Amino acid sequence: MVWFRREDLEDRELRQLSPFAAHSRDAGGRRLGETEDPLRTVFQRDRDRIIHATAFRRLQHKTQVLAAFEGDHFRSRLTHSLEVSQMARSVVIALQLNPDLAEAVALAHDLGHPPFGHVGEEALDELMHDHGGFRHNAQGSRIVDVLEDRYGHGCGLNLTLLTRRSLLKGRIPDGFPLATDLLPKQPPPLEAHIVDLCDKVAYLTHDVDDGLRAGLFGEADLEPLRLWRLARESAASATRQRIVSEMASLLIHDLVTATEAVLRDCQPGALLPRIAHSGEMTVAAAELLEFLRSRFYRSPRVLHVMEDGAARIRRLFQRLVADPSQLPEPQQKRIPRDGLHRAVCDYVAGMTDRFLLQQT
Ligand code: MG
Repeated sequence: MVWFRREDLEDRELRQLSPFAAHSRDAGGRRLGETEDPLRTVFQRDRDRIIHATAFRRLQHKTQVLAAFEGDHFRSRLTHSLEVSQMARSVVIALQLNPDLAEAVALAHDLGHPPFGHVGEEALDELMHDHGGFRHNAQGSRIVDVLEDRYGHGCGLNLTLLTRRSLLKGRIPDGFPLATDLLPKQPPPLEAHIVDLCDKVAYLTHDVDDGLRAGLFGEADLEPLRLWRLARESAASATRQRIVSEMASLLIHDLVTATEAVLRDCQPGALLPRIAHSGEMTVAAAELLEFLRSRFYRSPRVLHVMEDGAARIRRLFQRLVADPSQLPEPQQKRIPRDGLHRAVCDYVAGMTDRFLLQQT
């Protein structure tokens, strides 16, 4: 055999992955039936569709914490998503789970974020209070199921059911228009839990790096934190980048060993217990998160930019609801089906920070 066909890859999954892994032959199908790809498994195909989506490219101009115009070296939602994907692949491969599913979910996990981060998200949720609310995870699901209409069939990217279920983490606002086959919510596969925890590892560590780079705190401020001290002691050198990278390694290795310990006592197919870091690392990560909240996420410099962005979202939203003729034509066409407020919300939520600033 000189090349792998899809069937070979599927057979290899069955031979090599753990019984707790999601197998691409059990991905639950697509809303619209399709001919299988000769080379790629369904999860590889899902991943590739996500990478080619317009919403994915927009992540490069969406704020993670510091707005893109603050400097070229800070994380955007795109680079954050790539870091989550890389970490999730490492963990999932070590645990013999499915790396293609993990990669697809990691790359898509922030697609639904509006401009200006969580402050922008709260603004849209308030504006949509009487119309089904707004949350980035629910919006991510709406993007892949409906809004990213590349193929003109009304089923968005037409991803597999298992990938779509994996994207539905967290609370969904009452009345939010989800595809009906996602309800009632089913427990997502293990790969989705791992991505969720890697999301946290990625932002905890890269936000230390970005916060230091932005001068919002210094290395001496981090010294009381257990995770920073552990990483400094075990890192081969004491450069800032090396310590931050060691923090990520410690959290990743801990996640692998803690998950393995949980799975050792489980039966495949049974309801899985919650996957988490070890007790020690959970406490150390919570301590770091608290530090970042007070010194970074809620710092006056970050909040000022975010709140200005949220005020622009409110003004633009109200302007478009008052005069829908200002919406571009494709969004106007959605009004009869989705309602005026949802059509405006989808349009504003899809904007990059940069585009929103140009519009307001
Ligand atoms: Mg994220």
